[in-house]
Amino acid sequence: TVGTSLALALRNAETHRQFQELACRDGLTGLLNRRALEQVIEREFKAGTRYRSSACFLLVDLDFFKSVNDRFGHLAGDQVLTSAAALMRKTVRDTDEVGRFGGEEFGIVLPYTNLDRALVLAERLRRQIEMQEFETDQGIVRMTASIGIAHIPGMSIRSLSEWIAAADLALYDAKALGRNRVVIHAPDQAVSIESVLLAQGAA
Ligand code: GH3
Ligand code: MG
Ligand code: MG
Repeated sequence: TVGTSLALALRNAETHRQFQELACRDGLTGLLNRRALEQVIEREFKAGTRYRSSACFLLVDLDFFKSVNDRFGHLAGDQVLTSAAALMRKTVRDTDEVGRFGGEEFGIVLPYTNLDRALVLAERLRRQIEMQEFETDQGIVRMTASIGIAHIPGMSIRSLSEWIAAADLALYDAKALGRNRVVIHAPDQAVSIESVLLAQGAA
């Protein structure tokens, strides 16, 4: 009957939606998976370019996470990852997107957000992770995180992959500078410092 086929169609649609939703989620943390987050980054990159609006991308990487696994076991490591994910989700706004970018690395997209606000948020997040007592079956685990920020529009960022690469470079600097810190990708500034030096050398 019509009623039955309608009910079936609706159920199929709901099942389809659930599958779509599952395909976008990371199994451990429930955050967006990398593929889904990259789609969000692409959307915001296009919107940012078209409307010349500000947006920021953050890469958050837990510091010395391997030692958590080594000391407390992989299961405790998983519990820390899940709690860290929840903490990130709780710290950002509803309109911000958080995803698991890989292992113990997370990506956060902040649409319509300038660098100053992104910096405040990143610093708050860094501090919260530092203060958090992560509960696991093996007891309390303490963690820190390093964060790289890349902002659009930016002179050196002309594509989605350059945006991600810029955040990755900033994250790399945060690690190299000693971890547990926030670093902003600032190539424009670096270029201007270089040109000042060049000009001085030429003078
Ligand atoms: P760094 O401060 O340089 O980031 O050091 P690190 O130890 O965090 O980085 P490294 O890349 O050496 O190690 C990452 C570790 O994260 C190793 C891997 O076992 C662990 N890891 C990745 N995914 C998972 C996961 O799903 N569960 C658990 N428990 N551990 C994971
Ligand atoms: Mg790490
Ligand atoms: Mg990592």
